[in-house]
Amino acid sequence: MRNPIVSIRHFSPMTPVAACDVAVIGAGAAGLAAARHLRREGHSVVVFERESQIGGIWVYTNTTEPDPMGLDPTRPVVHSSLYASLRTNLPREVMGFREYPFAPKKTGQRDPRRFPGHKEVMEYLKDYASEFGISELIRFETEVSRVWRRESGKWEVRSRKRSGDEEDVNEAFDAVVVCNGHYTEPRIAHIPGVDRWPGKQIHSHSYRIPEPFRNKIVVLIGISASAVDISREIASVANEVHIASWSNSNEESVTLPGYDNVWLRPMIESANEDGTISFQHGFKISADIILHCTGYKYHFPFLDTQGIVTVDDNRVGPLYKHVFPPSLAPWLSFVGLPWKIAPFPQFELQCEWISGILSGRISLPSQKEMTEDVEAFYDSLQSAGMPKRYTHNMTGYQFEYNDWIATQCGAPKTEEWRKKIYHATSLNRKARPENYREEWEDEDLVLQAYQDFAKQISCKQVS
Ligand SMILES: Cc1cc2nc3c(=O)[nH]c(=O)nc-3n(C[C@H](O)[C@H](O)[C@H](O)COP(=O)(O)OP(=O)(O)OC[C@H]3O[C@@H](n4cnc5c(N)ncnc54)[C@H](O)[C@@H]3O)c2cc1C
Repeated sequence: MRNPIVSIRHFSPMTPVAACDVAVIGAGAAGLAAARHLRREGHSVVVFERESQIGGIWVYTNTTEPDPMGLDPTRPVVHSSLYASLRTNLPREVMGFREYPFAPKKTGQRDPRRFPGHKEVMEYLKDYASEFGISELIRFETEVSRVWRRESGKWEVRSRKRSGDEEDVNEAFDAVVVCNGHYTEPRIAHIPGVDRWPGKQIHSHSYRIPEPFRNKIVVLIGISASAVDISREIASVANEVHIASWSNSNEESVTLPGYDNVWLRPMIESANEDGTISFQHGFKISADIILHCTGYKYHFPFLDTQGIVTVDDNRVGPLYKHVFPPSLAPWLSFVGLPWKIAPFPQFELQCEWISGILSGRISLPSQKEMTEDVEAFYDSLQSAGMPKRYTHNMTGYQFEYNDWIATQCGAPKTEEWRKKIYHATSLNRKARPENYREEWEDEDLVLQAYQDFAKQISCKQVS
């Protein structure tokens, strides 16, 4: 079906109770939403952005890091992890900001598809930034190297322009909102013997196009959305692709439906000096490349909280509702840590919440109550046998979480159509991993979404 073309709605500025000087680190989708909502609430905002443009992960580049595994801490960091063919894994009506629908545009060379390519997301973020005049708040090519709290309670932010030989600059802020993203620092699978294995290894952070895999025998580790896309893409040029994952327990050789050169394997047991890879249950092959599609680590190299906030087995904590460290709240906050979600609408709500708390319009529980809440949450994960690294995995409860924040903010809860489309897309992605971006059965919900967008606009025009 074709998506109707709609324009956007606007919220009016808030009346501030107290205005703060706030530093936002990063101008990806989360940082843009932070800037938008902080300013709407009446705060003064400076956004520090290391790159020369907004967009974060959505700024595609052919460039990759010199270390294809991203293990060298001194390497020049390439922020983006996008591959050339990437299309969104969420439909645009679910993915977009609540306040600014991600509707197809008639103008220019835009990609009107329901699951557009990465360039279209970048264009959408540019539109969002321009609509709300966010760029004027951003200091581009300015990297934050250290953030710490002074005795006075103010936060000191040290930054430096990336070009030229400019000096470090220290500035004081009332609050810092961390929006530096978490898809840049590779997580690597531990493979016994891999140090002596003679083949090549690469993390999906440095995957761009399938060509380097032509005629190769590839072992790909992982089953994430990117792993699914990349394995299919590589299969078109590689001799063999072996997908290794904990969830494949087959003892026999099973090929991926529709492919005669892609096998589903159990996890790797070892990599061997003779160039072979041994899988559980005894299967062994000779391979050229291991491609780690094994996700990313939270990484805050600039943040010095004197040990109050730590990253432990990929749990960033302690954090009240994934946002505030209780003893530093509300002056330090994190936007965008949860995963297995629709990120942009959640960023908006987290940012609205942070902005309202900083101005005193919304209140937080006491430090003790927040700490107890965090401890109860961690206890519940532990009782469920959940490793710490799943702390920010919101499978199954993102909308409950979003609605809780919305209630705190006095904002509308998540639209029913958004929840239902998200759910329908998850099912469709499982049922049609090859073509869920082209075939779907939730047209009625899409229609509701666009009717809702149109209603918001007419309300705005009347008010
Ligand atoms: C391969 C892949 C596919 C994805 N597909 C989808 C999808 O289809 N739909 C969807 O909704 N989401 C998708 N996502 C999730 C995506 O990451 C989020 O949608 C979102 O864009 C993340 O925004 P962010 O602002 O949190 O982080 P980022 O976009 O990573 O932005 C962080 C910004 O912080 C800056 N920064 C970092 N450190 C510093 C520093 N020290 N000083 C100054 N600036 C700094 C960076 O330069 C960057 O601009 C995908 C992610 C990946 C990796």
